Amino acid sequence: MANISLYRRYRPETFEDVIGQDHIVRTLKNQIANGTVGHAYLFTGTRGTGKTSVARIFARAVNCMHPVDASPCGKCPACLELALSDNFDIIEIDAASNTSVDQIRELIDKVGFPPTIGKYKVYIIDEVHMLSKNAFNAFLKTLEEPPAHAIFILATTEVHQIPATILSRCLRFDFRLVSASMIAERLKHVFDDIHVTYDNEGVSVIANAGRGSVRDALSIADMCVSYSGGNITYNSVLEVLGASDPAKIAHLADAVASGDVDGALTEIARMCEMGKSMPVLASDLSSFFRNVLYIKTCKNAKQLLSIPDTTYTLLVEVAKKYSVAKCMTIMKAMNALEGDFRYSTQHRILLEAAIVSCAAGPEASDNAKIRELEAKVMALEKKVKSMAQSGFKPTPVKSDARQVWQNVASELMNRGQRLLALAVLEADVSSDDKKFVVAISTKATYDILTDKTNRDILNDVFKALSNLELDIKHVAKYEEDKSLPFVKSMFGSKLEIK
Ligand SMILES: [Zn+2]
Repeated sequence: MANISLYRRYRPETFEDVIGQDHIVRTLKNQIANGTVGHAYLFTGTRGTGKTSVARIFARAVNCMHPVDASPCGKCPACLELALSDNFDIIEIDAASNTSVDQIRELIDKVGFPPTIGKYKVYIIDEVHMLSKNAFNAFLKTLEEPPAHAIFILATTEVHQIPATILSRCLRFDFRLVSASMIAERLKHVFDDIHVTYDNEGVSVIANAGRGSVRDALSIADMCVSYSGGNITYNSVLEVLGASDPAKIAHLADAVASGDVDGALTEIARMCEMGKSMPVLASDLSSFFRNVLYIKTCKNAKQLLSIPDTTYTLLVEVAKKYSVAKCMTIMKAMNALEGDFRYSTQHRILLEAAIVSCAAGPEASDNAKIRELEAKVMALEKKVKSMAQSGFKPTPVKSDARQVWQNVASELMNRGQRLLALAVLEADVSSDDKKFVVAISTKATYDILTDKTNRDILNDVFKALSNLELDIKHVAKYEEDKSLPFVKSMFGSKLEIK
């Protein structure tokens, strides 16, 4: 028994054992009880959600002599015979390795033979989307007029690849992802049964790592059992999964919150050196901020999250430093990376760029911009002061548009119009005999300059300095590929682009 995987060992034998697919189980049981069994079924859904298991239970149940609540009894001659893998009445075909039309013809030729044991011959065709077009066509005729004793169960993860002609002849059942709490219950049952001890937090991590697939969760459970020697703990599960220590993630989150780009990059470098996979780290960060979000928004977050007290305390600390919006931003950035990782081998650079932009964030970059503008203002104020001290009065200068414009800015400063002065400095100017053209590429700046009140002030100042016609335009600037300069500006000389 020891070498059989948990997944095989705990495969459901009856409808009662199937978890998370109540809507399907109920319908199938009713059909068996009412004698309204169909001839063609399509089972679709993600891997590990129970399609093949349910197909097998159903195949035995329709043949069972004494079904128990519509499930196979497991004791009658039909059940015993059909439990053998080489029986003649439940035929399992893996379409992934039997795609040719000849193989399907061979199957179809034998469909006419009656079952040897029970009432039905059941064909379970797994990965049915892999069949060739010709194979589907050959199959279609049989599906249109199946013998009374034949039942076809087509299983697939890719329902969109099934021809409509086939779909229209099948009763379709969509298998759902199984909730983590249901998987956790199942895991506990299995662990109790094999006398393995566990803590709830460890079980919860395994259940979540299954991502809706009971099979995947049980495979992970298998690894954890071997690794932990019969005592499954939260930390041992994290080690098996290669998941990040929450304390390290909290460090990184701290650095991001305080806009400490250097600290954030150092933390990533440390994890990278430890052999941590960047996609896994991105996914860990995403779950971490999901948990933070729970704490910020749910009253009973502690119960919902099922994490150890120490981790919970950590999260509470981090939650204080983050707004809901910021949590969402980071989660979105990390989730977006999942797609980017597929098209690039530069996983570390991608993650670093995402983290840096989260750390710098919209708020932080606004601050940087404000600081930059304030520096400009101070320089300008200084200049204006020194000009005033030297008794300088701005005089109209017609030849140099730039100079005129600087004088406009200075005069605006004199009048206490700081914002307007700053906006003015962002423009590109040029002039001819009649027009003084002010070109603005930033929409926000354009809006400031063309605001009615501002425009009046500007006109007033401009009129005193020039007799040209003032023309303010919003121009779209040609945008180059922004990403490379952005990455370079973030990392400076430390970055090597391979
Ligand atoms: Zn039976």
